[in-house]
Amino acid sequence: MRVASVGVSKSCFLLSLAFGGLLLMLIPALQPQGPQADLPQPRPQSRPARGPSRQDGASAPSGVAPGLNGSSAGRSEPTKAEPRPQGGGDSKRSPDRGALLRGKGGEYFGSRSRDLLELKDIFIAVKTTKKYHKSRLELLIQTWVSKARDQTYIFTDGEDKELRVRTGVNLINTNCSAAHTRQALCCKMSVEYDKFIESQRKWFCHVDDDNYVILPSLLQMLSSYHHSQDVYLGRPSLDHPIEAAERIKSDGSESVRFWFATGGAGFCISRGLALKMSPWASLGNFISTAERIRLPDDCTIGYIIEALLEVALTHTHLFHSHLENLQKLPTATVLQQVTLSYGGFENRRNVVSVVGGFSLAEDPTRFKTVHCLLYPDVAWCPKLKPRHKS
Ligand code: UDP
Ligand code: MN
Repeated sequence: MRVASVGVSKSCFLLSLAFGGLLLMLIPALQPQGPQADLPQPRPQSRPARGPSRQDGASAPSGVAPGLNGSSAGRSEPTKAEPRPQGGGDSKRSPDRGALLRGKGGEYFGSRSRDLLELKDIFIAVKTTKKYHKSRLELLIQTWVSKARDQTYIFTDGEDKELRVRTGVNLINTNCSAAHTRQALCCKMSVEYDKFIESQRKWFCHVDDDNYVILPSLLQMLSSYHHSQDVYLGRPSLDHPIEAAERIKSDGSESVRFWFATGGAGFCISRGLALKMSPWASLGNFISTAERIRLPDDCTIGYIIEALLEVALTHTHLFHSHLENLQKLPTATVLQQVTLSYGGFENRRNVVSVVGGFSLAEDPTRFKTVHCLLYPDVAWCPKLKPRHKS
């Protein structure tokens, strides 16, 4: 009797152990795993006191000293200073390339977050203007945009049905003014932001129409982070934070200091952070926010993120504009960068040094050469000459 009862309770104990183990194994499998299920939703702002008020945005400019860039927009280097390497400026959060793992389909798993990132998760906004459709945009469409056509959105200021039909790109007419003014550029950025939010993609990256985006490097860099973290990545154009007069009330202003990523080199923002920017950036609020500091679009992005949301810019030198000396970039590292650029009219020789099948005359920007080094199988890329047996 006694022996039997001990036997029964022993087997009951073993059975319950096995059942408990089975339950533990089932718990993760029971959780929903839709691809967009983990996208963060807008949250209530913790600091509504600094949010944009209609009064702020609507009031006429007061006598407050304008921001450093005054009324004409141009590039957002208020001093046009040659950017200097930031001593220790690269954040501790910069991507650890060695620690990245590559999936079967070429996708990257972030070392920290294990966020499986694919190209379709990135929204790439290209800012352009109608007069540059032929001279600048066509080159991008022929090169890197052709490898990311579905997730690249081109923001312009005039209709070009022929280009849209011929190339099949996402061309968005913002109906913003074609002038190169601060207001017109902020108008375009405002539309870029709204379209990104609408897209449900995980990352927002902005570039100009004189940037080449090295897509594998972009994917690798973003894979080091999670889109629900607060991430603002880019290259500061100055070696110090910008100081601006922040017009908060109609009767006065306060000085505010913040870092910003230069738009001419491109920058990226995680979806989590972009959603927090909403009170100051969505549905036209971006334009009134820019009016508060009277600085261009990229400075305004920095203002919202660093000054209002108190999230720090992650400094990276993988982004490049033509305000730096591009020839200084070591040839061996060119394909590891995230963006490249080229000098305009005033400095045609400011291009990256790469060697390939195109001469400088055939490929003055070097973008075709870079593209063929990355994708040698592209039909128009010069084929390597077969070796002759002697
Ligand atoms: N741009 C624009 N409207 C204009 C002139 C320029 O939207 O009237 C865009 C242009 O397409 C580019 C960006 O603004 O994407 C910067 O222009 P650009 O490269 O000519 O100037 P910089 O880099 O010297 O500021
Ligand atoms: Mn430019």
